[in-house]
Amino acid sequence: MNLNELSAREITEGIKSRTFKTKDVVQASLACVDKTNKDLNTYLTVLHDDALRQAEEIDKKVEEKRPLGPLAGVPVAIKDNIMVRKVRTTCASKILGNYKAPYDAFVTERLRAADAVFIGKTNMDEFAMGSSTEFSAFGVTRNPWEKSRIPGGSSGGSAVAVAARTVPLSLGSDTGGSIRQPAGLCGVLGMKPTYGRVSRYGLVAFASSLDQIGPFSHSVEDMAVMLNIISGKDLRDSTSVDKAVPNFSDELAKPIKGLKVGLVKEYSIGGLDKEVEKAVKDTAAVLKKLGAEIKEISLPNSDYALAVYYIIAPSEASSNLARFDGMRYGFRNAKAANLIEQYGFNRDDGFGPEVKRRIMIGTYALSSGYYDAYYAKAQKVRTLIKNDFDQAFKEVDLILTPVSPTPAFKIGEKSDDPLTMYLSDIFTIPSNLAGIPGISVPCGFNSQGLPIGAQFYANHFQDGLLIRVAQSYLKETLWNKKTPKL
Ligand code: GLN
Repeated sequence: MNLNELSAREITEGIKSRTFKTKDVVQASLACVDKTNKDLNTYLTVLHDDALRQAEEIDKKVEEKRPLGPLAGVPVAIKDNIMVRKVRTTCASKILGNYKAPYDAFVTERLRAADAVFIGKTNMDEFAMGSSTEFSAFGVTRNPWEKSRIPGGSSGGSAVAVAARTVPLSLGSDTGGSIRQPAGLCGVLGMKPTYGRVSRYGLVAFASSLDQIGPFSHSVEDMAVMLNIISGKDLRDSTSVDKAVPNFSDELAKPIKGLKVGLVKEYSIGGLDKEVEKAVKDTAAVLKKLGAEIKEISLPNSDYALAVYYIIAPSEASSNLARFDGMRYGFRNAKAANLIEQYGFNRDDGFGPEVKRRIMIGTYALSSGYYDAYYAKAQKVRTLIKNDFDQAFKEVDLILTPVSPTPAFKIGEKSDDPLTMYLSDIFTIPSNLAGIPGISVPCGFNSQGLPIGAQFYANHFQDGLLIRVAQSYLKETLWNKKTPKL
């Protein structure tokens, strides 16, 4: 039995039935990390000792017949902008290069209580700004399907951690597509829950009105369990919503017969790769075969989503990142002669070029005299985009789109051209602006063997519908069963 091939459910069952020990599972996971990390650069921190210690504790619980959590013994990987107590949390930035988290994020607290085992912290674009993981201060992560290509981003490491079978489950964050886009490019599942479903306490903020934490997995079943564990009200994040959390696993057996699925008229854009377009069409055909009704819908303000996002996200980022000045923690330049220089040098040396670009754009958009023309205007158009979705969900239950316009591109291909890079999130950004949930589901491979992803949207707090459609679709097609050869 290859322990790295097991789903989270199979691991927990095996541990409970004493078929194997948590220690075996964790050792297998760490061995897989050690074998692949040099090539893929998936993990920034590997928790060899901590993970084995956690494994021992769980095995002791089994021994003493104490109750076990729903993810007992399951190795998980965490994006490096989410705090794990006493563990380095760098956001892939030099400015936080040696920063240790003083507390657990809400989601890590929940996972710990569920008896999951933290294997390590994953690589990402610096402060989650990017679509390729090339903007990490610690080197690019490589796509396990083809190592000369990017894994997507910004949660590239968390997507690869699952795709390369180092762990069955990982967490990422999604501000404009950072979970769904790398999931699509790496052939795994990735989900951004409804805004407010999951607390962001302990997530290093990028753009607070857009950020959500969510899971990556191979199995829809595992994803449902993870989603239940991390959902719910948390008083430490006032945007988390006090709304009953349904049992997402109940969705797994429900049919999609009779559900209405919308295809967006405005999403047939020029730059859409032909093979991606075909894979999404084929996805619609499978849904139809399973009894769903497919119809065309319109999101008339789609054209503005990217522009609106690139005002709102940098504006919020410029404010959120003001706290990183290297004075109380983080990177400090040794050559500054006075206090003003100290602030300037710390930030100039500490941040990479993409982060600086965002801070400058955001500061400009928020500055007096420009605020109304840019920021206030963008917020108004954001409302129009949200209204489009409200309208669409009167006609359909789900919306089907590509995840990104092309499969994984080559390392270096877009890193000097911010605008082309920004376009890779054209289909994912609208849901962050509207606050609705989205899931990326593997839906095939192109002629070069690169994975393609299909995305589903549902209305606010209909996260369960995404679990349902993903399960029905993948049970039929098995696209999530493919593994890259490493
Ligand atoms: N790629 C987008 C950006 O660069 C989205 C990033 C994200 O979702 N964190 O801002």
